Amino acid sequence: MCCDLKRRFLLLYATQKGQAKAIAEEIWQQAGAHGLEADMHCISEMDKYNLETEKDPVVIVISTTGTGDPPDTARKFLRKIRDAALPPDHFAHLQYGLLGLGDSEYTFFCNGGKTVDRRLQELGAQHFYDTGLADDCVGLELVVDPWIDGLWLALKEAFLLKKEKEGMSSNVNAVSSSLSAAPHIVNELNLSSEVQNLKLEDGEMRSADVLTQKLVDIDLVATAGDTEPSLVHSVPPVSQSALNIPALPPEYIEVQFQDTHGENPLLSSLVSEGTTFEVPVTKAVQLTHEDAIKTALLLELDIADTAFDYQPGDAFCVMCPNNVNEVEELLQILGLSEKGDCFICVKVKQGTKKKGATRPQHVPERGTLKFILTWCLEIRAVPKKAFLRALVECTSDTGEKRRLQELCSRQGASDYTHFIREPNVCLLDLLRAFPSCKPSLNLLIEHLPKLQARFYSVSSSNLYQPGRLWFVFNIVEFPACPTRAVSRKGVCTGWLAELVAPLLHPNKNNLDAKGGSPSTEKISIFARPNNTFHLPADPSVPFMMVGPGTGISPFIGFLQHRQKLRKEHTDWKFGETWLFFGCRHRDRDYLFKQLRCFLENGTLNHLKVCFSRDSSTAEAAQPKYVQDVIRRYAKEVARVLLKEGGYFYVCGDKKHMADGVSEAVVDIICMEMEVDKLEAMKILAMLREAKRYLQDVWS
Ligand code: FAD
Repeated sequence: MCCDLKRRFLLLYATQKGQAKAIAEEIWQQAGAHGLEADMHCISEMDKYNLETEKDPVVIVISTTGTGDPPDTARKFLRKIRDAALPPDHFAHLQYGLLGLGDSEYTFFCNGGKTVDRRLQELGAQHFYDTGLADDCVGLELVVDPWIDGLWLALKEAFLLKKEKEGMSSNVNAVSSSLSAAPHIVNELNLSSEVQNLKLEDGEMRSADVLTQKLVDIDLVATAGDTEPSLVHSVPPVSQSALNIPALPPEYIEVQFQDTHGENPLLSSLVSEGTTFEVPVTKAVQLTHEDAIKTALLLELDIADTAFDYQPGDAFCVMCPNNVNEVEELLQILGLSEKGDCFICVKVKQGTKKKGATRPQHVPERGTLKFILTWCLEIRAVPKKAFLRALVECTSDTGEKRRLQELCSRQGASDYTHFIREPNVCLLDLLRAFPSCKPSLNLLIEHLPKLQARFYSVSSSNLYQPGRLWFVFNIVEFPACPTRAVSRKGVCTGWLAELVAPLLHPNKNNLDAKGGSPSTEKISIFARPNNTFHLPADPSVPFMMVGPGTGISPFIGFLQHRQKLRKEHTDWKFGETWLFFGCRHRDRDYLFKQLRCFLENGTLNHLKVCFSRDSSTAEAAQPKYVQDVIRRYAKEVARVLLKEGGYFYVCGDKKHMADGVSEAVVDIICMEMEVDKLEAMKILAMLREAKRYLQDVWS
């Protein structure tokens, strides 16, 4: 009945790290099974589509990067649609659905998608489907999967409405008129009887990439007494369900081993964001005591002979390799232990069914197997469902196969969350748990994301100590758990800790001491662009800094810089400075006791410190966290921030601290300005906009 309808839609994606692209590809694949044809393009390929003349529905998948920026690939598009000369009905002909990707750990959640959505609306475009905002913090799939499920019905409704407008067949009209009465229900997943009439032919559905699989292996049903589900074991109802599993992604990479030798690519060739610098580590100091819960290290880099430059408050990126033992284990499981040093050539498989298949940008065309596993692929990444789906095909044991199918199925969504996403299970954990799973190398290259360089805040001032850069980090530790037999350290911090172990200075907190044995170890770094976390341009402006734990790091740079300026410019007027610092114990993780020197020489005017785990002997309860201390100084915060046009900087842990601090500031604004909470939140938003309330936070 609908076969005469034109079922093309335009599918645009704007991706930074490949997630939006992968989701668009998933939509593209599923479209065929729904009798639809997606014309898919990266949003930057503006010569391949034209929204001005587009008559078919448009689907946009767009991620968010940095501090709420759209991906780089969307910049040109945004510039174009932001043109102030465009009339408000410029896109009045356009019907679109938008899926935004983001991470609620960051302040401007899904801002890339929201920005495009808002602007399209301003230009008269209309939603044919409600906007979806997916949160990587809790799992993109929680929104993405149902959004894609609902998309097909919404698209069909959009086609029908379009046909109705065009005065098409009376049969279609009869159905679409019942839909047009309530166009806003496009997101509804329960189909009305009229809509069910629109269901595609059975044959079409069968060619679908969504496969319903009946449970055939009775042995896999949980036996009595085996009632707890785990990574490898399921219980009813999942174990007894027919499963809807995702389509098998088409393979698209071919790996050829080569007999020839040569050089691996330079690390700098793996970075597209800017110039890399290989610099020696000249000092390593453990800032915490042995009995502290976390171990914090300060490293010094010698950047004197490089063109690397920074301002206090900048962050930079450290390129890190995967753990040697994990790479070896992976090679062993792949049956390629002997071939680690062989060169491979990575190409797109001839005749692949994947649309627009290209070699992943982060994988060089040629390099040794070890180089690619060590420097290019994030082998610790949590495997996505599409990867699990692909792994099913490489698993010989029927029980293991079934469990992998469950974990990527709709019915097993909550098992995926509990046993894979939440405990951060990685490929190696899976391969250990499912020993009959033997993936091919090309599958790893297709599914493992780019090994990202890690950001670190600079903890020094180039003015104060030219040619030397400090940074501070906690060694990230992941304890063993039921899904992971061994404890692990963070990829970058674990590697750095091992690298500098011979150099580590035993005298904690002795920052001026020369290092232990001299080191020849070098690391590769590059600058992080677009940072606004800088000192006020006018030194007479007062500012407050909030940096518990390693969040104090950039403020050491601020203070060093300020100290040097004060010395060099005795005639300048300098604004008041405040620092709120917090840690667990005064004697174990008070990272920079030297703060006192800044106080004594007048660089720092107010130092407020709290200890969350030290018991107090004082009668009145001591504030535990920085946000509690800030509340105690409500009047001063209001004065500096609201009356004196000062700056407020927050750095460190997003989850447990930054939100608490902004809540405290909102409460202070309410109290001191006698406004309600909504008004106070608006004021804070304005301060953020004016770049006077600045955050540099990470999870
Ligand atoms: P990874 O191996 O990347 O592990 C951390 C990740 O593992 C987490 O992202 C999480 O997804 C996952 N994970 C969490 N729990 C578990 C678990 N139980 N098991 C397995 N995996 C788990 N850090 C600093 O210490 N100092 C800084 O100055 C600093 N500045 C930063 C500035 C910016 C702008 C940003 C964005 C981040 C900054 N960070 C800083 C964080 C830093 O970039 C790294 O994320 C951090 O050092 C951890 O890196 P890693 O490779 O050791 O850990």
